[in-house]
Amino acid sequence: MNTAVGIADLTEAERTRILAKTARFNPPEYVTADGRRDLIGLDRDQLIAEMAAIGEKPFRAKQLWHWIYHQGVTDFSVMSSIARPLQQKLAEHFIIGRPTAAVVQTSVDDTRKFLFRFRDGQEAETVYIPDPEEDRGAVCISSQVGCTLSCRFCHTGTQTLVRNLGAAEIVGQFMAARDSYGEWPSPHGETPRLLSTIVLMGMGEPLYNYENVAKAMRIVMDGEGIALSRRRITLSTSGVVPMMDRAGQELAVNLAVSLHAVRDDLRDEIVPLNRKYPIAEVIAACRRYPAASNARRITFEYVMLKGINDTPEDARELIRLIAGIPAKVNLIPFNPWPGSPYETSSNTAIDRFAKIVMEAGFSSPVRTPRGRDILAACGQLRTESRKDIDRG
Ligand code: SAH
Ligand code: SF4
Repeated sequence: MNTAVGIADLTEAERTRILAKTARFNPPEYVTADGRRDLIGLDRDQLIAEMAAIGEKPFRAKQLWHWIYHQGVTDFSVMSSIARPLQQKLAEHFIIGRPTAAVVQTSVDDTRKFLFRFRDGQEAETVYIPDPEEDRGAVCISSQVGCTLSCRFCHTGTQTLVRNLGAAEIVGQFMAARDSYGEWPSPHGETPRLLSTIVLMGMGEPLYNYENVAKAMRIVMDGEGIALSRRRITLSTSGVVPMMDRAGQELAVNLAVSLHAVRDDLRDEIVPLNRKYPIAEVIAACRRYPAASNARRITFEYVMLKGINDTPEDARELIRLIAGIPAKVNLIPFNPWPGSPYETSSNTAIDRFAKIVMEAGFSSPVRTPRGRDILAACGQLRTESRKDIDRG
């Protein structure tokens, strides 16, 4: 057998296994008590099929897409290009839903955290991080309620996986955040916009919920709706190697990789997924990632843990590992949470580390913690949702 083909087959088999396993955590199909279906989260073909099912032509799907994703409306009666009787018919069959904002907190630094409640009562957090100098900012979106992985420094990791978020719930977080800032209709082209980028860096591992995340990202990237370009979307993964390849081929959004350690023994301990996909495999997948170029670098995230991973030797090993990859290194001062087992590295240690990385030619910004006062910073998100909760 040709070895190259053998490896490709193995990887494909592994992907199929991951997709089958993760699909078991998908949300149930929702229908309202009076039998109406939510149009949010359907792709264009599904929307056309829904129209066909009520005897309407495909162009209605295109009209709806514009009202739902460009104008951001949730009420059929304001869709002025659709005649009144059809508006009523649509309202009899469908809704345009949003997750409920159960709690909204705004930090002293203007970061805003939303606790969204979904239809079965499960909850996830979303954070809007405004740029302090300009009229723009990033929406940090969750992909799962809880997480199957248990990175030692991460608050979400202490909450076991309850379920995946569906495409509607992933897109819905962004849309509800837009509602909160009154930023509809979707701004055109380079018009300043507050909610200008998406980072998939909230709760959960997006590549263990690939199908829903990919569907949601295709919706937000569609040019006739929210129309965020793939350059404005960053997917962060703790290193699910087989799915990194798939995401690169199909979505080609920016990639961020949670590296956090440069030796397998340490990474095995703090990012347990490393036991399955060790550092060398993760780095190899980054080298294969198609969107990586000088203009679109891969981000390596590196949480600074005092006395654990913050020495000059660690920094030098890091630059050896990533040599030749168009990359930047984002140094994240550890954000504590109740009961967390680590301390943040000293400023001296962080600066020393950043300098070594920078002198090797990689930009190495230190991420300013945002929203720490409301537990909205990286790695601080967690909800009370448990598997046995049924508040639906
Ligand atoms: N599951 C994905 C995305 C969510 S986490 C991932 O792990 O990449 C977003 C980033 O915050 C990751 O780099 C994660 O490792 C980091 N992070 C987690 N806990 C943190 C903490 N307490 N302080 C700082 N960063 C943390
Ligand atoms: Fe999950 Fe990411 Fe937290 Fe690890 S860092 S437990 S992968 S959310």
